[in-house]
Amino acid sequence: MSAADKVVRPEIRAMRAYQVSDATGLVKLDVMESPYGLPKELAEEVGRLVAGLSLNRYPVPTAQKLRALIRRVMQVPAGCDVLLGNGSDECIQYITASVAREGAVVMAPTPSFAMFSMHALFYRLRFAGVPLRADFSLDAEAFLAAMAKECPALVWIAYPNNPTGNAFPVADIERIVRAAPGLVVIDEAYQPFAGATFMPRLAEFENMAVMRTVSKIGMAGLRLGYVAARPEWIEAFDKVRSPFNVNVVTEAVAIKLLENKAVLDAQAARVLAERERMRPELERLPGLTVYPTAANFFLVRVAGGKGAGTRVFDALKAQGVLVKDFSGGVPSLENCLRITVGTPDENRILLTAMREAL
Ligand code: PMP
Repeated sequence: MSAADKVVRPEIRAMRAYQVSDATGLVKLDVMESPYGLPKELAEEVGRLVAGLSLNRYPVPTAQKLRALIRRVMQVPAGCDVLLGNGSDECIQYITASVAREGAVVMAPTPSFAMFSMHALFYRLRFAGVPLRADFSLDAEAFLAAMAKECPALVWIAYPNNPTGNAFPVADIERIVRAAPGLVVIDEAYQPFAGATFMPRLAEFENMAVMRTVSKIGMAGLRLGYVAARPEWIEAFDKVRSPFNVNVVTEAVAIKLLENKAVLDAQAARVLAERERMRPELERLPGLTVYPTAANFFLVRVAGGKGAGTRVFDALKAQGVLVKDFSGGVPSLENCLRITVGTPDENRILLTAMREAL
């Protein structure tokens, strides 16, 4: 037994660190990034901006300017505040930490984003997932019944959901928020591709927060997410925050890019148009079930027995395309692949490779 084995908690020893595949030399369609870089002029402006930063200084701990800009640009309702995270991953950590009472329960539909249950584990909370139906639709009755039984401190609803891509019905989410005894966080990581949002409704529900990220609209490398809610929630999340969690480069560059948000919006619109162009092409492929999506990716299921999905994943990779393979994890995702929408060229390569692979 190693020295670490003696002290590291068994449930941490038993888990695997978050896996991200090496994408060197591959068409990268695995983690829902924007496929577009910055236009040259804007990239040069960013370069000059970074050159002028005082990297010897700590960031302004409250990131006032960026928070004010986010409130304005993202239309956070008056009377609500915003907390920034090093990616929305870190917001998930802070939100979980702030409600981590002994014996508290965290809930989410499953499958959903892995970090919801991982942070519950890290903070010793019990995670009670409620399975989606076989077609990945939300079983609202089952969720409400489970909530009545579990009395969760925290409920996560990814809207649209990852990895399934669908956006659950608004009326069902409203019922969950109304019935929840604790906090409900609507994770809107894919909002730019969904159109719909709960943001304007924050004032209506005292126990709701809306979390977003700039990762899917071209800034994944900056690591910036945010959560908007009534000030009493934000105050609580802020107490468990690392003092300088948003670094000076992220803050300055995010301000510059959000001031030029029209550029990012135009890129997202191209991704959206490509998604609609790809959908019938994917649906036409034999042996593939394409699930409804409101996000910048498709979840598909490869027909066949055990190993069929992984065989297609490997064949795509051999042809230079990296997607995400969900086989071998949650049983309901067996033979499922998640394909991020890329540039028109990347999507053409993917579709050709997929025709070959099936
Ligand atoms: N929420 C959901 C639903 C996601 O899919 C992701 C990333 N895949 C995140 C949050 C985290 O994003 P980030 O940390 O890049 O903001």
